[in-house]
Formats: sequence, structure tokens, C-alpha cells
Amino acid sequence: MNEILRVQKLGQNHGGYFGETIDIRAVLREIETAAASRGWTAEVFHSAADFDWLALHRPARTLTPPRTVHISTGLHGDEPAGPLAALKLIQDDGWPDAVDVRLLPCLNPLAFLRNQRTNPDGIDLNRDYRHPQSAETRQHIAWLERQPAFDLYFCLHEDWEAHGFYLYEQNPDRRPSLAETMITAVRPVCPLDLSATIEDRPASGGIIQPVVFPPERPDWPEAFYLITHKSRQGYTLEAPSDFPLSVRVQALTAALTAALRQAAYNQ
Ligand SMILES: [Zn+2]
Repeated sequence: MNEILRVQKLGQNHGGYFGETIDIRAVLREIETAAASRGWTAEVFHSAADFDWLALHRPARTLTPPRTVHISTGLHGDEPAGPLAALKLIQDDGWPDAVDVRLLPCLNPLAFLRNQRTNPDGIDLNRDYRHPQSAETRQHIAWLERQPAFDLYFCLHEDWEAHGFYLYEQNPDRRPSLAETMITAVRPVCPLDLSATIEDRPASGGIIQPVVFPPERPDWPEAFYLITHKSRQGYTLEAPSDFPLSVRVQALTAALTAALRQAAYNQ
């Protein structure tokens, strides 16, 4: 018998995110400690206002060529589930051996101090990846330029007005899709947004496969930079932030864990 998912919308988000917030300084300290004790290396690629921007690396544990993965989150300071999901993924330590992971747990820490989308200068970093104005984005791109290409990228976000979890897929070469795998993994833990249109784009079963032409768009999100310069397949995951924070963290971690297992299996 199918279990009925009894998770209700909180009804708190009117015109923005009004749910639980996090102490980002404490969360980042926990992330650094948990990563160090599980064999990750940490690189600081930017510092400002007593914060270090961390890039964590967990090499694959196989001799065969691994799947290389870039996971990033914390780009919007009113989306706390992303950094918490990064922490949980590190603590759970369920990474497939054949996956080489670079994990950037918080790309916009100063925004979390004010529970706001933009950086302190009012820049939406997720529109700043073509002609970057912010130091945060410039330093992330400088770091990316020193990295190898990635087989996959995952950008972890939240949407304050979503009716459930959904995701965007970029897969121009039509490689084996991981979208359904993620939706199936999320279904038991978090409602899905099954709307036919999400954010003005056609959607089906919680999956948006937008047709995009990055050269025609002036204000690139991070995913446009990644799909243009670093990868040929990637996903932007959107947890619905009008649901309890623990549910959204579970949704993001369940999706990512399932996707990486499938990617390692497809190898
Ligand atoms: Zn976001």
C-alpha cells in the first residue's frame, strides 16, 4: 500500500521567505569539522567580513576514472535548506566510491546574516555569472577556471512560492537523465510541484527542461556558466520553502544521493 505523505504547507511565505533561519557561521563551522574528519580537503577561494568561502573536495575512491561532480549551494541567503543539506550529505557520508565531488556549501554567506536573496550590495549572485560584478562570483569563477570539467553539476536552491519540490535539467547531449531518479527519491519525503507551468516554463511531473540559449541572455545564473564552460549535464534543485525546513533538507539530500548512485551505476 502506498504511504500517504502528510506534509502540509506552513502558509508563512507571503511575498518572500518567512520560515526558519539558520546561524550560517555555526553551520559552516560544522561543515568544516565534519568534512575534515571524513577525509575531505578544504580550499578557501574568497574571504570577506570574517567569512571564508569554502570549496571542499572528496576524491573518488576507485582506480577507474571517476564521475566528477560540482555541487554548490547557499547562493541565496533566504534559502537555508541548501547549506543544511550540504552538512547532512557530508555527515551521512554515503558518496559512491566512483564519484569525485567538489562541494561549495555556501556561495553567499553574508546574505544569510540578513535572510535575504542578494549579497550585501543588493546583487542577485544568480544573475551575475556572465559579466560578474560581485567579488563572490568573480572568485567562484576564478576557482572554477582552475578545476577540471565536470560530468555533472547540481545547484541546490529553494523557492518560497513553490507548491512542492521541482528541478531544472540541462542535458543538451541527451545523456541518460537523472531527473526521474531524483523525483522518485523525493516523492516519499516531500510534496512535488506537479504544476503544468512553473516559473513561466512548461513543467511535467516536477521536471523543467528549459530550452536555453545562454549567448542570448545577459544575466547568467550559475547554471548557465556551468553548462557553457564546465559541464554538459546538470540540475538545479528547488525545495519548496513554505514547508518545514527538515522536509526540504531531506528532499535535497534524497535527490542528490539518488542521482549520484545512479550516475555511478551508469558509469
Ligand atoms: Zn535560489
